[in-house]
Amino acid sequence: MIIKISNLNDGSNNFIFNEPVKIIGLKEPFFDNFLLNLDLQKSNSQIALNSDLVLKAKFDCDRCGEEYTTEINTSYQIIYMFGEEPEETDSLNLKYLAFDAEKIDITQDLLDYSMLSIPMRKLCKEDCKGLCYKCGTNLNVSACSCVKEETDPRWLPLMELKNKLNNN
Ligand SMILES: [Zn+2]
Ligand SMILES: [Zn+2]
Repeated sequence: MIIKISNLNDGSNNFIFNEPVKIIGLKEPFFDNFLLNLDLQKSNSQIALNSDLVLKAKFDCDRCGEEYTTEINTSYQIIYMFGEEPEETDSLNLKYLAFDAEKIDITQDLLDYSMLSIPMRKLCKEDCKGLCYKCGTNLNVSACSCVKEETDPRWLPLMELKNKLNNN
């Protein structure tokens, strides 16, 4: 995804994109369109990019295994400095542009930050009841007749991990 910078005004420049995820090469778990709100603050020496990204994704719930869709919001900032790139640079959020640069390509950053936005813990809802560990009934949908010992909430993360391992 290419942003033309040769005709930016000094100060704030706002762009909004609503595009299919596939145009930047994003695949599962993402689908449909992404909404990108870009603000480019331009001065003589740099362009500061602020990016707000809204994505739709499909995941399998860690507790009940059901597929669910969710909206993910993520944002990042990158400073594009005009000038020569120093020998040693390890800052992720600092890039260098030739003084006569006409455009910036933000595709890779969009991809990277989208992948980083995937949550570690995936729940169809905060209070998902999960599956009965005896009969496998999805307890969000119906109750089962198994005798229940109350699950100590401290064990839930371990049970999620177990479900995850079983699903894979
Ligand atoms: Zn669930
Ligand atoms: Zn059961």
